[in-house]
Amino acid sequence: MKKAMMVTTKSCFISVVVPCFNEEKNILGLTRLLIHEIQKYRDYEILFVEDGSRDQSIKTVKSLAFENRRIGYVQFSRNFGHQVALKAGLDHARGDCVITMDADMQHDPKYIHELIRVWREEGVDVVYTVRDDSGKRTLKTFFSSVFYRIINGVTSKPVYAGAADFRLLDRRVVDELRKISEHHLFLRGLIPWMGFRQKAIPIIVGERAAGESKYSAAKMVRLALSGITSFSIAPLRLALLLGGFFAFLSFLYGGYALWVWLFTEQAVPGWTSIIASILFLSGIQMMLTGIVGEYVGKTFEQVKQRPGYIIKEKNIPQGDR
Ligand code: UDP
Ligand code: MG
Repeated sequence: MKKAMMVTTKSCFISVVVPCFNEEKNILGLTRLLIHEIQKYRDYEILFVEDGSRDQSIKTVKSLAFENRRIGYVQFSRNFGHQVALKAGLDHARGDCVITMDADMQHDPKYIHELIRVWREEGVDVVYTVRDDSGKRTLKTFFSSVFYRIINGVTSKPVYAGAADFRLLDRRVVDELRKISEHHLFLRGLIPWMGFRQKAIPIIVGERAAGESKYSAAKMVRLALSGITSFSIAPLRLALLLGGFFAFLSFLYGGYALWVWLFTEQAVPGWTSIIASILFLSGIQMMLTGIVGEYVGKTFEQVKQRPGYIIKEKNIPQGDR
């Protein structure tokens, strides 16, 4: 309550961060809608993070920044990925709160009003949106629900199903996030982990306005794996459990073989079973090595201490703040 009163009486500066990768057809339309929605709040800035697009996205962004001093951009030297682009946006935004959203108009700017209202009036630090897709069943929603089930089964902090990267973060949360230099970012897991007061609002996610989804099946699998291995060591334990289970099975089978050899006449060399078990066990072993490799790889990338992204050019709004 104290905070709500505090914020409503002082002017609040709102940053909107929009990562763009090959979004030349969407940027203008989105900016128009966005400005219409946000100019009610006197102080705002829009920050595009241009993630190494191969189309004319950067040209469009630069011309917008030229026309409107509240619009700025960060241009990456190459494509670093959506999550990293979001991080760069948070690193550069100056607002009392920062709203992140997609460039393809799947995140309708009309919800911004509600995000800001909940933040100002209810004193919530993280207002995130949850896709209300009851009734909509596609292959993508199916795999996404499987993923959320798995990740919630293996992590201690919940990762909300259908939570999008369309959310509002209070300055306090942004400052804490900026200190985190994790290489494999998975904000949908990291932000619930951070605590503070968090609240969800349901939204309808529309169709992408133009262009194609940048999340290919391979990219989604990568994000899902990264999400799971960033937040849990359960898969490593799975390796241990499976190893123990199969050691136990082979012990039983060994006992049985010994019994056959000692007490029966049927001790025929079991070629088939040997081949079958070798194949099966080597398959399991490879899978487990893969799981370990996933974590070793992450550790490797983290210890190299490379920056999460490289900026080619930037133009951050300098307006009155
Ligand atoms: N994006 C990005 N870098 C990437 C992939 C995506 O900055 O490597 C941006 C993209 O331009 C969009 C947002 O991230 O603004 C979400 O991507 P997309 O709409 O393709 O994902 P989907 O909605 O299909 O899950
Ligand atoms: Mg999209």
